[in-house]
Amino acid sequence: MTRSLVRIGVLSAATVVTVLGLVAVAAAAVIIGVGAMAESIGSHDAEGQPTGTREFASRNAAAHETVSRERLPDLDQETPNELQVHTVVSGGRLSYRIGFRSAVRNVGAGPLIVNGSRPDSTTPYMRADQIIDRVGQPQAVVPGVGRMQYVIASDHRHWHYAQFDRYELRRAGSSSVRVADRKSGFCLGDRYRVTSLALRFASPKPVYTGRCGLAQPALLHMHERISVGYGDDYSAFLEGQELPLDGLTDGRYVLVHRVNVDRRLREVSYANNAASVLLDLRWHGGKPSLRTLATCPTTDTCYEGA
Ligand SMILES: [Zn+2]
Repeated sequence: MTRSLVRIGVLSAATVVTVLGLVAVAAAAVIIGVGAMAESIGSHDAEGQPTGTREFASRNAAAHETVSRERLPDLDQETPNELQVHTVVSGGRLSYRIGFRSAVRNVGAGPLIVNGSRPDSTTPYMRADQIIDRVGQPQAVVPGVGRMQYVIASDHRHWHYAQFDRYELRRAGSSSVRVADRKSGFCLGDRYRVTSLALRFASPKPVYTGRCGLAQPALLHMHERISVGYGDDYSAFLEGQELPLDGLTDGRYVLVHRVNVDRRLREVSYANNAASVLLDLRWHGGKPSLRTLATCPTTDTCYEGA
């Protein structure tokens, strides 16, 4: 009896330890979550996404899933961040560029899958098709969503899905574009995990972490993807992550990043495809300085107080 009580006592103690352990793990997870969210908000957008928008994105994906067997992706453009101004010497002249990180995450009900193919290696481009997962049915194909091109950059060479994400600078309050990008595309992949949203269809692990046919210009087929709960990003000044500031006068500008501009990729929603930053540009002694006045995670028309 006594031994039994002791055993119970020991078990209870063990249970308490386990519970405490779980509490400690849970607390650590919360701290990690908060840390990640703070980092995400700090580096992605100063304001973060309004809670309403997050709930809307989740509800949207869930509502879509209930009425359709299709598991569509939902591309969410993150706010331009890591803004930097660099001086470039070209043709003996100084040129000034704004560089930025851009990131697109999938918050939808299914993966973004883009397959490229070409009949032979003398055809310069691959034709890209979107593949859509369907519950209890074979995958669907959306043909001709663009093309894939073998890109030769200074630091690497591989297959890009062209015109996935676009960048432009506009005068604040105007829709006319002053400077537009010439970026050649993205090597799509599960590059970072989305930590600031609870996504019902999130993939537990990254699926596509490949290098998009690195140093393989003769490939005839290419498979690229962004899983739900993952994002793809490019750092400032990497492979066209920049726009020239030369010739722009003092004043306020909006830097816009926009994914899937021509809407050829099918998604749950196109409402979250643009994000922007309001900037104040001033020239002093021939050198530009930029100040961020506002960050706008869900619109291309950023204004102060947005
Ligand atoms: Zn690349």
